[in-house]
Amino acid sequence: MGVAPRKYYWRDKYMYDVAFIGFGAAAVYAAYELVKQKSTQKIAIIEKGKALDKRKCPIDGVRVKSCVHCKSCSIMEGAGGAGSFSDGKYNITTNFGGDIAMYLGDRTAYELMWYVDKINTEMGGAECRLFSTSGNNLKYEALKYDLHLLDASVRHLGTDKNYEILTNIIAMIQEAPNIDLIYNTAVESVERSEENGGWIIRTQEEGPRSQETIHAGKVVIAAGRSGSKWTSGVCEQLGIPLRDNRVDIGVRVELPAQIWKPVTDQVYESKLVYRDAGTRSVCRTFCMNPYGYVVTENTNGILTVNGHSFEDEAKRSENTNFALLVTHHFTEPFHDSNAYGESIARLTNMLSGGVMLQRFGDLLGNRRTNRKRMQDSFTKPTLDAEPGNLELVFPKLTLDTIINMIERLDKLVPGTANTDTLLYGTEVKFYNSVVNVDNDFHPVTAEGKTEESMYIIGDCSGTTHSLSQAAAEGVFVARELLDREK
Ligand SMILES: Cc1cc2nc3c(=O)[nH]c(=O)nc-3n(C[C@H](O)[C@H](O)[C@H](O)COP(=O)(O)OP(=O)(O)OC[C@H]3O[C@@H](n4cnc5c(N)ncnc54)[C@H](O)[C@@H]3O)c2cc1C
Repeated sequence: MGVAPRKYYWRDKYMYDVAFIGFGAAAVYAAYELVKQKSTQKIAIIEKGKALDKRKCPIDGVRVKSCVHCKSCSIMEGAGGAGSFSDGKYNITTNFGGDIAMYLGDRTAYELMWYVDKINTEMGGAECRLFSTSGNNLKYEALKYDLHLLDASVRHLGTDKNYEILTNIIAMIQEAPNIDLIYNTAVESVERSEENGGWIIRTQEEGPRSQETIHAGKVVIAAGRSGSKWTSGVCEQLGIPLRDNRVDIGVRVELPAQIWKPVTDQVYESKLVYRDAGTRSVCRTFCMNPYGYVVTENTNGILTVNGHSFEDEAKRSENTNFALLVTHHFTEPFHDSNAYGESIARLTNMLSGGVMLQRFGDLLGNRRTNRKRMQDSFTKPTLDAEPGNLELVFPKLTLDTIINMIERLDKLVPGTANTDTLLYGTEVKFYNSVVNVDNDFHPVTAEGKTEESMYIIGDCSGTTHSLSQAAAEGVFVARELLDREK
């Protein structure tokens, strides 16, 4: 679909009670709650990308093998946000995935995340399994090797179910008489309105709603990772301070699913953390995809690697993949941690044209993996990446930590350090700058003024980096908006 029909109109401008910018997890679950609780507020949801059924990445592996840099990236942008084609792992935990508990406290944070889980099960995910780290001895086994398992429950929806659930929720939102879904429309600026104390939202020059002006009493910025730079710009204009965060850099590991089966069958996703005594760096496993696929991800034109898997057994691969990420914090005089991560990813792109692939045995033997060596590999890759030498990409400290972690994991899960274990570079977890928000997610200016009619939530605020926590913040803000409606 192109442009949703206008439901609200005011003089020659659009007038809404609330405008959401971005329609990712945070806004989707916020809108769900507003519809469910029968809010009568006039709401605009303005989304840069396409409607869910129109989102299609042109990479088909045959005609188009690598990123063609679409104007709007269908993987990251559009209805449902960055998580729409993801593995749909909803980690119900405050141990990772964001800092929601810092703002709301553990109790409210868990209540909201379990509520999101209830929505998912009611909207199509009833049969999706819930895994938990409690009730098994993995934590103890891992400790023997100085590996620390973080506690979490995880509902694994799988790429297919995740999409189905989103389709159901968005259909419900679309039908609400008081909500305008405005796709293919990037917001350019958000300014205070002198007229009525609300906000003036201007859209970008291109697109069906080019240079339109939308007025809203309240604005909820939920622009995600792809909109994080834009959000930072809005904050700078409004005098809202930002704190720079860390960047996590590493590889995606792929190996035969049988190797990790004893672990993935028990907990599906295990977040194992290791502090390397030699390099003094922290490395962790991240985003585990049993029987999954390695995929390319495009962040602001830079190609990185990620992974996903399907709930449907017929669509499974023979491999499991997961990321190994090394945390990088910077001190004076350098602050731009994301730029550092981008440079490493760019270097990988420069050397390989995109994602680089190396066998662990070749890395240990200080030799490049080439096409011939890959043909000999017993482990067959699920992503057609360019064989190369990761030593040319990663700083020594990062690479040493990754190698040490793989050898450590091999003690817990024998076979992890096999010669044919595949390593894809580069996986980067960019952490958005943390916006100065209060405990209700209202931004607070450097002068200490709280913007009561603005909320900044989800990944663009730097307070979350997961589906579960972004969605939970969405529900929290929806309830705030409902409270004020009474
Ligand atoms: C491939 C992949 C797999 C992932 N898998 C998982 C997983 O299994 N589990 C997990 O917990 N997390 C996962 N994540 C992370 C997860 O998707 C995000 O943490 C989550 O989507 C954040 O939700 P959000 O609403 O804050 O932002 P997003 O989902 O990123 O949504 C933000 C939306 O805002 C729009 N936008 C941006 N700027 C503008 C603008 N100026 N005007 C209008 N619209 C704008 C974007 O187009 C986007 O649709 C994955 C991410 C990726 C990319």
